[in-house]
Amino acid sequence: MARKPLIAGNWKMHGVLVDACQLAAGLKAHCRGLDDRDVLVAPPFTVISEVSHILRDTAIILAGQNVCWEGKGAFTGEISPVMLRDAGASAALIGHSERRQLFGESDSLVNRRLKGALQFGLTAILCIGETLEEREANRTLDVLERQLRAGLADVGGAQMSSVVVAYEPVWAIGTGKTATSAQAQEAHAFIRHVLADLFEKDIADQVRIVYGGSVKPTNIDELMAQPDIDGALVGGAALDVESFGRIIHFA
Ligand code: PEP
Repeated sequence: MARKPLIAGNWKMHGVLVDACQLAAGLKAHCRGLDDRDVLVAPPFTVISEVSHILRDTAIILAGQNVCWEGKGAFTGEISPVMLRDAGASAALIGHSERRQLFGESDSLVNRRLKGALQFGLTAILCIGETLEEREANRTLDVLERQLRAGLADVGGAQMSSVVVAYEPVWAIGTGKTATSAQAQEAHAFIRHVLADLFEKDIADQVRIVYGGSVKPTNIDELMAQPDIDGALVGGAALDVESFGRIIHFA
């Protein structure tokens, strides 16, 4: 089953408007004529509208870095799926390890966010991944299965065409340590196996599973050569237009 590769850049809490505009304009030049892969960026909320204006005549997908489950209401500090769409985004990262670790977001909160995103027509990029401690205790697959089952609780098979899973081992995020392509492939194949159990094999075969954790121009080709790696979620290297451009143009 051919899955269209997805290269996603998470800008995290970096850059003010002028930086975001520069990055978006540079990115636009790198993506011209690319139609065999999807490119997505998740800028800070405050610059999404402006970035969307710059990217309006491209196929680059815009995402929020998080999203509330409600369309509106008394949720101080949250951004709703309706607001994201209004700003020009059509996707949202959900359950990024920084949200889970630094802001205490639980599996059930992640699930609420994910269902809200789907309900309001966003593509949900569900991030899962084990810590170093969990890997060293041989608990990687248990953790992935728990996060996946909890994150996708009450989601129907028909909704899975709007879900992307990002496998991001926490120990590889922003550390310069990348999972080997074999470690990443093992985790991705396991995730697809759990998805087949949760839904059905045909659905699992269609879901894109992207890898995140110190992806760079020097390791993207090997990662993308793995059968179950359908793309990348890139943090640090997404802030440098030349590096991200090279990643987008993986071999
Ligand atoms: C991320 O934030 O999702 C990420 C993978 O970061 P980095 O590429 O910097 O490790």
